[in-house]
Amino acid sequence: MSCANYPGLYVHIPFCRSKCPYCDFYSVTATDQIEAFLSALDTEARLYRDQFPAFDSLFLGGGTPSLLDAGQLGALVASLRRHFVFAPDSEITIEANPDDITAEKLRLFRDLGINRLSLGVQSFDEAELRFLGRRHTARQTAAAIDLIRAAGFTNLGIDLMYGLPGQTLDAWVKTLETALSCAPEHLSCYQLTIMAGETPAPHETPALRTPLARRVARGEISLPDEETQREFFLLTANFLTARGYLHYEVANFAREEHYVCRHNLKYWTRTPYLGLGPAAHSFKAGRRWWNISSVAQYCSSLSAGKAPVAEAESLTPEQVRLETLALGFRTHEGVSLATIRERPGGDAMVEALTRAGLVRVDGERVMATLDGLVVADRLPLGFAD
Ligand code: SF4
Repeated sequence: MSCANYPGLYVHIPFCRSKCPYCDFYSVTATDQIEAFLSALDTEARLYRDQFPAFDSLFLGGGTPSLLDAGQLGALVASLRRHFVFAPDSEITIEANPDDITAEKLRLFRDLGINRLSLGVQSFDEAELRFLGRRHTARQTAAAIDLIRAAGFTNLGIDLMYGLPGQTLDAWVKTLETALSCAPEHLSCYQLTIMAGETPAPHETPALRTPLARRVARGEISLPDEETQREFFLLTANFLTARGYLHYEVANFAREEHYVCRHNLKYWTRTPYLGLGPAAHSFKAGRRWWNISSVAQYCSSLSAGKAPVAEAESLTPEQVRLETLALGFRTHEGVSLATIRERPGGDAMVEALTRAGLVRVDGERVMATLDGLVVADRLPLGFAD
């Protein structure tokens, strides 16, 4: 698993046709703001072009980038190509919802150089899709995938969600089997949570940020307990690896090494990236910054010629070390023993975690086992000062 030295470019398209009740990502349904947003985005790209002259990945995420029409998407990509250089073999991904896919839109994607699709499928079960408030049906997804293949796309990622209230392991296996019948090059399998996405503002209670979270808080529905979630995770990993998929990150699987998402890999390997658009995050030279989560404020900041940065932070060397561990333990490449040995007691901790079955050592690398991946976020705590 390698990652070129180029940074990656992420563009957050903060518009959706409607809000899904579980979603905590920043997006709005006021699509009349799209033109103003695109104009502001062009200004933002101009502000950063000297700092980030070239990329080898572009990820158009959101929100719902696929809802942009041909003129809007064409203008967006033209603006990015005007300000930045993309390496010839760049991975160019667009997130798309199945109900946006048409033969015409796929031709547009191809004409714009998009070579990877990340399809927000979530489930192949109609009742689950209704629960999730998705606008598409399983039948629409199947039709969309047929169109995608017919249009010649050979790098298709499918996003799925497990751990829904009342969902059985058998129902989840059925969804996985249906997904595999389309032979996707990539699968992302996320656990439904009520705290996914952005960090809540200090005055907000995280559990109440989404309609789904409020339903859980009112006791109308309950999510599976930790042990059941663990079963879902282990089943997913065993099911997909038994069918040849590479489990290269906690929630991500590639049909072959070649289909590992180059862009997302940059986040886990601390490779620099630039995020444009409201709420987008960036990272370079140990500094991290993120944009305002408001289309209106984003646009007004840029029309005044000012970068729409909400906050920035520079990590201390110890924070960098812990972040390297936290991100590394999420991936199948793990972390280096050298990083672990930067602090006294590292070897003893590796031994303890190995005895507990949570990590394994392979040469100079320490990797989380499957049981370790279940608690990947907590593993670095053992190595803290
Ligand atoms: S899940 Fe996707 S489509 Fe639904 S509101 Fe969130 S960003 Fe929009």
